[in-house]
Amino acid sequence: MIPVEEAMARLMEMAEAAPIVEREHVPLALAQGRVLAVELISSLDLPPWPNSAMDGYALRLADWQGEPLTVSQRIFAGQAPEPLVPGTCARIFTGAPVPAGADCVEMQENAEVLADGRVRFTEALSVDQNIRPQGQETTVGEQVLAAGTRMGPIELGLAASLGLAELVVVRRVRVAVLSTGDELIEPGLPLGPGQIYNSNRVLLCSWLQRLGCDVIDAGILPDDLDKTRAALGSLNHVDLILSTGGVSVGEADFLGHALREEGELSLWKLAIKPGKPLTFGHFRGVPVIGLPGNPASTLVTFALLARPYLLRRQGVADVVPLQFPVPAGFNWPKPGNRREYLRGRFENGRAAFYSNQSSGVLRSAAWAEGLIEVREGTTVSEGDWLNFIPLSEVLG
Ligand code: AMP
Ligand code: MG
Repeated sequence: MIPVEEAMARLMEMAEAAPIVEREHVPLALAQGRVLAVELISSLDLPPWPNSAMDGYALRLADWQGEPLTVSQRIFAGQAPEPLVPGTCARIFTGAPVPAGADCVEMQENAEVLADGRVRFTEALSVDQNIRPQGQETTVGEQVLAAGTRMGPIELGLAASLGLAELVVVRRVRVAVLSTGDELIEPGLPLGPGQIYNSNRVLLCSWLQRLGCDVIDAGILPDDLDKTRAALGSLNHVDLILSTGGVSVGEADFLGHALREEGELSLWKLAIKPGKPLTFGHFRGVPVIGLPGNPASTLVTFALLARPYLLRRQGVADVVPLQFPVPAGFNWPKPGNRREYLRGRFENGRAAFYSNQSSGVLRSAAWAEGLIEVREGTTVSEGDWLNFIPLSEVLG
């Protein structure tokens, strides 16, 4: 069996050997979830000038001997101020440029306006207080985001703050989703004998969409070699064929057959639970990942292996989801020979897992907040620290 780390390393290698190189320009409003093809360099200082962090008064500290000051101008955000008249202060509002000659802003709460209009400051003052310096966010020429960054709301906000209206991003990855199995029918149809509803199709299609992929829904593939061959052959325009089911080494291993015939195949037995069998190969040059068919296995292997593969194809450097140690709320007395990813959540500050961890049970994951990692060959006692991977980290 291949340890999870090794499978991951091999998948990353294969992803790096087939990077998506085409780029496109997209407006900021449509760039959500896309991956930057080039680094983002600031063409300006941000903020472009020192500005006030408070509503208050700007003054030059050396001019102030403790006596009240005359207000010589009012500066609102969006205005360009005059240089400060020596020996006076300026009324200033948050975000307004600090006038040349001023080096201190006092908040209005610590200022008293006298009957003659002059302003008295009631607290001690210091140079630079309440001034956001020019370039505190970034300066001209600085790299703000690296190529390979996925653009979420925060990164988009950052790009907007630099004045960018569009971004150069990597073309979307085109992924065809194939569900295999004679037993599958689509939701909405009556269930015949021996049939089950196809749940992996919508699970993967919607997930891939969240990841910014171009999804080609290739429907259900019956357990039949000719049809498998034909279906794979018709998907020659995609970057990845992602199938589920038919990868256990049973008689219905048609995906494996087709790949052996017309490409190459690595059939991996992974030390992962749920999700032992995983197929990786090429069909006439198109990469194929065959995930196991059991819904919880599909979920775990997609989250931990296929997702990082797809991100790396787009040049994303950081593909490993955030994970952190949590105290176990259970005992695990029997060491396993595969790494288990229990669908679990927090109960009273400790990680608890769903009562039924069968790979056929998707409700475990709907109940869960994340995957609790129990390493192969280890036992767990309550209070031991285990790795926790929040599902929210991998779903987008
Ligand atoms: P297989 O790898 O084809 O033997 O499938 C393993 C298990 O997962 C079987 O119980 C299948 O019925 C089930 N399964 C396979 N594909 C799907 C699917 N698309 N939706 C729901 N269950 C599936
Ligand atoms: Mg099957």
